[in-house]
Amino acid sequence: MSDCIFCRIVKGEIPANKIYEDDLVFAFHDIRPLTPVHFLVIPKAHIPSMAELSEEHEAIMGRVMTVAGRLAREQGATDGFRTIINTGRVGRQEVYHLHVHVLGGPEILPGML
Ligand code: C5P
Repeated sequence: MSDCIFCRIVKGEIPANKIYEDDLVFAFHDIRPLTPVHFLVIPKAHIPSMAELSEEHEAIMGRVMTVAGRLAREQGATDGFRTIINTGRVGRQEVYHLHVHVLGGPEILPGML
């Protein structure tokens, strides 16, 4: 989608601190990190939110989750990490292109779930 900020990051139209890219997914450091390790893994395809997922997305989302776990370890979250997917208004989603937050590092995350 041409006006979606994450689609524009995937296309290289908006800069991002990229970690990883393959045919299905793209990962980059969150611009406002909440923890020492905080990055986003997104499908390259424009899926607005988790509420729009259907069977056709199973391969993509399998890749998203597999990459998230591997990159978490590679980024230094060796003692564990949190994955968060905000969905819709009630879920406090700000960017309507499905993304998985991966949060880790040595600090406790107060106020989060
Ligand atoms: O609330 P939501 O799960 O939609 O979070 C969107 C995230 O995208 C925020 O953590 C924000 O810092 C991040 N973001 C980013 N780069 C942008 C725009 C937003 O990392 N250009």
